[in-house]
Amino acid sequence: MRRLASAPHHLGSAEGARNAEWIRARFQEWGFDARIESFDVLFPTPKQRVLELVAPFAFRAALAETPLREDPTSGQTAQQLPTYNAYSIDGDVTAPLVYVNYGVPEDYEELEKLGVDVRGKIVIARYGEGWRGIKPKVASERGAVGCLIYSDPREDGYFAGDVYPKGPFRPEQGVQRGSVADMPLYSGDPLTPGVGATPEAKRLERGAAQTLTKIPVLPISYADARPLLSALSGPVAPEKWRGALPITYRIGPGPATVHLKLVFDWRLVPARDVVARITGSVWPDEWIVRGNHHDAWVNGAQDPISGLVAMLEEARAVGALVERGWRPKRTIVFCAWDGEEQGLLGSTEWAETHAAELSEKAVAYINSDTNGRGFLSVGGSHSLETLTGAVAAEVEDPEKKINALTRARLKRIADATKPEERRRARERAGIRIEALGSGSDFTPFLQHLGIASLNIGFDGEDDGGIYHSIYDDFNWYSHFSDSDFSYARALAQAGGLLTLRLADADVLPFDFSPVAEVVAQYVKEVSELADAKRQEAEERSRQVEENLPWAVADPRKPFVAPKPESAVPHFDFSPLQNASDALTAAAEAYARAFEAAFAPGAPKIPPERLKRLNAELRGFERSLTSDSGLPGRPWYRHVVYAPGAYTGYAVKTLPAVREAIEQRRWNEVNTASGATAAVLQKAAGQIREATKLLTPAQ
Ligand SMILES: [Zn+2]
Repeated sequence: MRRLASAPHHLGSAEGARNAEWIRARFQEWGFDARIESFDVLFPTPKQRVLELVAPFAFRAALAETPLREDPTSGQTAQQLPTYNAYSIDGDVTAPLVYVNYGVPEDYEELEKLGVDVRGKIVIARYGEGWRGIKPKVASERGAVGCLIYSDPREDGYFAGDVYPKGPFRPEQGVQRGSVADMPLYSGDPLTPGVGATPEAKRLERGAAQTLTKIPVLPISYADARPLLSALSGPVAPEKWRGALPITYRIGPGPATVHLKLVFDWRLVPARDVVARITGSVWPDEWIVRGNHHDAWVNGAQDPISGLVAMLEEARAVGALVERGWRPKRTIVFCAWDGEEQGLLGSTEWAETHAAELSEKAVAYINSDTNGRGFLSVGGSHSLETLTGAVAAEVEDPEKKINALTRARLKRIADATKPEERRRARERAGIRIEALGSGSDFTPFLQHLGIASLNIGFDGEDDGGIYHSIYDDFNWYSHFSDSDFSYARALAQAGGLLTLRLADADVLPFDFSPVAEVVAQYVKEVSELADAKRQEAEERSRQVEENLPWAVADPRKPFVAPKPESAVPHFDFSPLQNASDALTAAAEAYARAFEAAFAPGAPKIPPERLKRLNAELRGFERSLTSDSGLPGRPWYRHVVYAPGAYTGYAVKTLPAVREAIEQRRWNEVNTASGATAAVLQKAAGQIREATKLLTPAQ
């Protein structure tokens, strides 16, 4: 970590290239066939950044993080990327300011009630509540001409605890860099959606790239945000909107008037993925892919080196086994990705370039990213849940000295908010893995190609406010996170066991019962969501009939009459319910057949049948995808898990159905439900095929 985080190593930097070479050399030293695969990707960096308050008083934002004497790498200013959001467009705008809280759709509904319009304004949103790229997306849809995003001290600054270097939290000049691409549309290079960004790839004109923002966006510190926010008048912000600055939070618009000017250098730079493999001895054409990114926004000790060093330890251990004469039955591919921070560039371009081969050969993709102290947290394909639980049972929590499964399970019981939830958590002997939206390199594998995927890491006990700033470095990590690297070892054990078991199991360790279980739950949820929307609409029309909103409003405050709402129709979820039942039945039959196949005295599965069985098993996740993809965003093909169009990181399960309901596209709900159900039926068929191959011919 000290070596890899010793200098800023972002995409396209000299240090990033040196790190890639260094990682490749380690893989080679450990006996892997390792090389660097490069892609040419669009990476804007700032040429000019101006943010100033022009009324009611003059103030020019510093837009710079302060080096700290206590932190040796924080002063590497010549190599640090300036504070900015990647894939903001160029712009030069001057307009009154409006405070929009987190800048998510619900916040704009609140603004509407308050009679505040953002058309022609610059909005200022605080970080938090979902993917930062959603903030400029929603702002531009509402007619804003510019967007500022700041880190409020309430979230990760002095309200939370002592700031760095005294404590782990964000100092006043700390800024969260980050991508603002519209990633829920597609991840990867904005100019090459769906294909690898190779030299010969056909590229979009920059103006045609749909994932760039529509308005200029800039992230700022709370030191820079404070004068802007304090110059706002207009209504006092609702209580939940108030942060921890010593000011009265007001919404505006104005009289604060802001000038924002951004000019970027729109260059193509090489994204350098390091890809290392050990060829399998029995099934070389079945691949277990393990990945973690190597690029950072600045020094990035936590993000991503804390996860990368664990993965490199796994590779070193695999190398040591190979040296002793062992070989995996399947091929193991270790990948250190570049350009994750800008929008999963290295992983997406690699996955798109090798799509056909991966679709044929990949058994699973195991991802990690940041790692720290706390609980084993796993998200991903529920077909791998049983395997994950078994692995977690063998990894010791380094501080509590109990196994990681027990600790994660007890944490789930402790965190349950309802007795029913607590009961279910107690009944579950294994681990429960979360559904995945986006936010790291698993996305192209899971949601674009339909490869069973996991995202693993320890977290939950490290506080801090250094994310994507110059302060995420070795000094911070070794003081405030996994300072003895014992959780790095635990992550390497978890990732290593998952990889080795997938590589060596005769019958791939997929279990479909957890899939059937969560799908049944998701079907129930979308049906309940529709009912809740219907009740909400009924209540609102009743209130309008009663003239309630007007009667209870304070006559001295502006009043905006709520719009009348149309009734919510009833939907047909029976295709989904039938598909869910089919999955449950198929999963149960597979489990019975599996038990019989491995009962004492059962005949050994002949090699030819085993090969076909494993092909069916690794095809299961693919059977959960649709060729046409999700409505309006065809790059995302998984029908069970997707990042939300208006949440980004956070998952939407059964996304086509759920989002049609959430976005009140009533006439699309039945179609989405039918299309999703057809894919789930196909997946049930896939399990039945595997079951046949597990059962000896009569
Ligand atoms: Zn990361």
